[in-house]
Amino acid sequence: MLLAPVRWPRPSRLRTPLKAPTKKATEGLKALELHTVGDLLEHLPRERREARAVAELRVGEQATVAVEVRSIAARPVRRRGMRPLVEAWVGDATGAIRAVFFNQPWLVEKYPPGTRLVLHGKAGQRGDFGVAHHAVGSEVGAGEGEQAGGTVAHYPASEKISSTQILTLVQGAKDALADVLEPLPAVLRAGEGLPDRPSALSALHFPERPEDAEAGRERLAFEELLLTQLVFLRRRARRRALTGAPVLDEPPSLSERWLGHGLPFALTQGQQSAIATIGADLEQPCPMQRLLMGEVGSGKTVVALWAMLRAVEHGRQAALMAPTETLAEQHFATIQRLLGSEQVACALLTGSTRASRRADTLGKLNSGELQLVVGTHALIEPDVRFRDLAVAVVDEQHRFGVRQRAALGEGDPTRPAHVLHMTATPIPRTLALSEHGDLDVTALRELPHGRRPIRTRLVTSERSRARAYELLREQLRAGRQAYVVCPLVEEAEGGEGDLRAATAEMQRLARGELKGHRLLLLHGQMRAKEKQQAMASFAAGEADVLVATTVIEVGVDVPNATVMLVENAERFGISQLHQLRGRVGRGEHASTCLLMGPPTPPGTRRLRALAEHTDGFRLAEIDLELRSEGELIGTRQSGLGQFRVACLPQDAGLLEGARRQAQRIVAQDPELQAPEHTLLGDALQEAFGAESHEPIPA
Ligand code: ADP
Ligand code: MG
Repeated sequence: MLLAPVRWPRPSRLRTPLKAPTKKATEGLKALELHTVGDLLEHLPRERREARAVAELRVGEQATVAVEVRSIAARPVRRRGMRPLVEAWVGDATGAIRAVFFNQPWLVEKYPPGTRLVLHGKAGQRGDFGVAHHAVGSEVGAGEGEQAGGTVAHYPASEKISSTQILTLVQGAKDALADVLEPLPAVLRAGEGLPDRPSALSALHFPERPEDAEAGRERLAFEELLLTQLVFLRRRARRRALTGAPVLDEPPSLSERWLGHGLPFALTQGQQSAIATIGADLEQPCPMQRLLMGEVGSGKTVVALWAMLRAVEHGRQAALMAPTETLAEQHFATIQRLLGSEQVACALLTGSTRASRRADTLGKLNSGELQLVVGTHALIEPDVRFRDLAVAVVDEQHRFGVRQRAALGEGDPTRPAHVLHMTATPIPRTLALSEHGDLDVTALRELPHGRRPIRTRLVTSERSRARAYELLREQLRAGRQAYVVCPLVEEAEGGEGDLRAATAEMQRLARGELKGHRLLLLHGQMRAKEKQQAMASFAAGEADVLVATTVIEVGVDVPNATVMLVENAERFGISQLHQLRGRVGRGEHASTCLLMGPPTPPGTRRLRALAEHTDGFRLAEIDLELRSEGELIGTRQSGLGQFRVACLPQDAGLLEGARRQAQRIVAQDPELQAPEHTLLGDALQEAFGAESHEPIPA
């Protein structure tokens, strides 16, 4: 248990409720969940936007300028009822304008000549500028003479409160920065060369130089990453201190027989070493939490089945959970096939299992009569009770929520099962650390021998399109099968008219390039039954071509399929295309992946990477690099993968540093009881709530 830390009284200035100038702005603050001065100071500018140069203002246009006041005066109001005005000559290096402020006569005192301002408003005729919002600008380069425009902090804002208004409030709260606490121990900060927290916040809000803002951001990002790693490593330490898991250390019987004679092939090096590692995990009383990464076709199922057989031969139970019914059914079929003549009582449990059958299965899981079960989310329904679950496998783990993953195997905290998480998405180290920092990781890097490499071609001209279909027909004539994947199900009403839809494409091909061949449709809007039928019929060779959406992405295994043709390939991500490509090349025949795109597709670099590389790990790294140029990682995943300030993979260096520091801290002071860690413990509590308090058993 974390001892109640000695708490300094929380400084009052940060807790002061925020006041906005208008009712509308007050609502705006509420919408942004900014309630106190402290909240406001943590509301960071997302970016710095170029301010418009005064000379470039166009009449009637809304714009933000960064300027210096040259002269300012109240204008006498002649007519009654007319609003008092303040006029100021303001300018930057490119020119000057007459800024007009309404209703705020006090600004004459507040903004004497020389004051730097950020003004947001509308340029009018005759060089005037009607100011809607204004703030004092400590702004970088603003009005300095040599540099026109400069940049302006841009805050996440809303319809009711603008970025400029927020900046004004932040300026008003500047003094409260002094009350911001520093959670990082001084030694750590010195070691990593990081500014203290108040300076970092100040630099982000009011940078004097652009580098300052970046240094401040890095400081906050480091803290964020450190807290995440502390949670991961404490979680891992807590798990490793647990002892309730079944110790599977009897000499192998069934599992060895199966490896020896049951398999129609020899294991790859990677499979062998994964099996050895997992075998060692299973002998420990501390529950395994291992992530097995391996591309589609790398043979994860064999490894998983081996681990499950270890449970079975100890007289215990094993379960495998897959994200879709199709996948669960395939796993079930594969497992039955792989098990051959071995007598293992298995069952399938999904959402469409009939009630009577389900009741029977639940009964047998409860009594222990069933040794192995394969299923979907149906396995984690509250009424599913295992008698003695020892090994739980979660396939395509990223398709489950954190809770769902934990529900299988950790259901009974006094008797946790060993859990093997599997993913076909190769995760580069940076992401593995930031998203799965609490798991142990094993990778299957090679594909089984005898796999023919898949040739990948970009098809971007009409002529190469014609050749692509020629190649496809050749394969069909040779008795092979093919996939054609489209981004849409139905043709879009408008806007996306350039994208191909599976339904229309199927009709087009049936009349055109693939006339005379048997085509079959598969998409996500079909009923589960229909989808299964389509898949089964394609797998049985009753159709030559499966025209589909990306529903075929996971878990389809038809060794006779040798062509994967993807329409509008530019619309898919690297990993998705790589997964799709993995649907072919599963048999003895050479396979081809045809990526169809417009002549100069926007995602050319992505597509080229696919044509050049077949190693999924390398592609994942490239993917990360390309994505980091545009979008932030972390938004697609919830929970710990999501960062407020940190930005991966650019901050990979910070992440490594944070991991190192967190390891040191957890090794020396796991409960964060030392005086220098007290505030860090508070910050952890604030960021992650209750979990941060759970004790690590000695
Ligand atoms: P994954 O789940 O990683 O996509 P699977 O375990 O489904 O891969 O294996 C893909 C295919 O390769 C299956 O048909 C499987 O039987 C076969 N396979 C697995 N391991 C080997 C191996 N070592 N040698 C040859 N074939 C293998
Ligand atoms: Mg698989």
